Amino acid sequence: MKDSLVKAIALDGKVRIYAVKSTELCETARLQHDCWPTSQAALGRIMSIGTIMAAMLKNEDEKIVIQINGNGPIGTCMVECRYNGDVKGFVGDNEIYLKYNDSNKLAVGLAVGTDGYLKVTKYTGLKNNFTGQVALQSGEIGDDFAYYFTVSEQTPSAVSVGVLVNTDYSCKAAGGLLIQILPDATEEDIQKVEKVVANLKPVSQLIDEGLTPQDIIKLCFEDAEILEEKSIQWNCDCSKDRFKAALSTITSQDLEEMIHEDHGCEVKCEYCNKTYKFNEDDLKLILEFKKSCGK
Ligand code: ZN
Repeated sequence: MKDSLVKAIALDGKVRIYAVKSTELCETARLQHDCWPTSQAALGRIMSIGTIMAAMLKNEDEKIVIQINGNGPIGTCMVECRYNGDVKGFVGDNEIYLKYNDSNKLAVGLAVGTDGYLKVTKYTGLKNNFTGQVALQSGEIGDDFAYYFTVSEQTPSAVSVGVLVNTDYSCKAAGGLLIQILPDATEEDIQKVEKVVANLKPVSQLIDEGLTPQDIIKLCFEDAEILEEKSIQWNCDCSKDRFKAALSTITSQDLEEMIHEDHGCEVKCEYCNKTYKFNEDDLKLILEFKKSCGK
């Protein structure tokens, strides 16, 4: 079963639901970055909710970038998701394997930490990109995003994200679920949602049991109406041109140094680890371009 994301409404349109299966996405990310279990779980949880947030965008050119840093051992986590379902991401330290002693669960909250922020930037292709930021609550990701939606976007939300990891570190099952209460909801609707959330098994367990995102939505709300289904996939859209543009933003002095002392430079894409080489001539062209722009 391939990864996919499903959007639905329920309770006469007063509740919006997104469910995603992201097992293949997490496995690809793990292989890309050689992630140990807790690093994989943190990255997988953020990517799962990221795909849902990207599905809320309006058109193909839009994307969201999620940045999380809670001063924990994992460092900064970055995830970028596009409206078309493309996802890429990385964590500062890929070799984290921490568990909670009492439950034997992967200790994502300990890895991420709570002394920091969750920041979301929506790139709309217009000048006014939207940025929202909240303080981390538990570092477990699900709680933190529930808080983000409630505070930053004024939409009361329940979030469940989870990643199950096999003993050989491969991804066993991963997924996410977002339930949002819309402004027209009554007290009775809210109570119904609370009951659903209280009785829900972890989403990664449901995926592991073979449920599809549609099945999970129907399990939550029998009356759910499916609005949209789309695929999600790992894809890094980096290119030499993009790094050329990035290099043109550094100072002329630094570029001169790279040309005359280092005779070129090599830059690595943090999302996919691909490296791009720029020789002296490449850098001279960038420098000339900068000068022609009067920078
Ligand atoms: Zn890349």
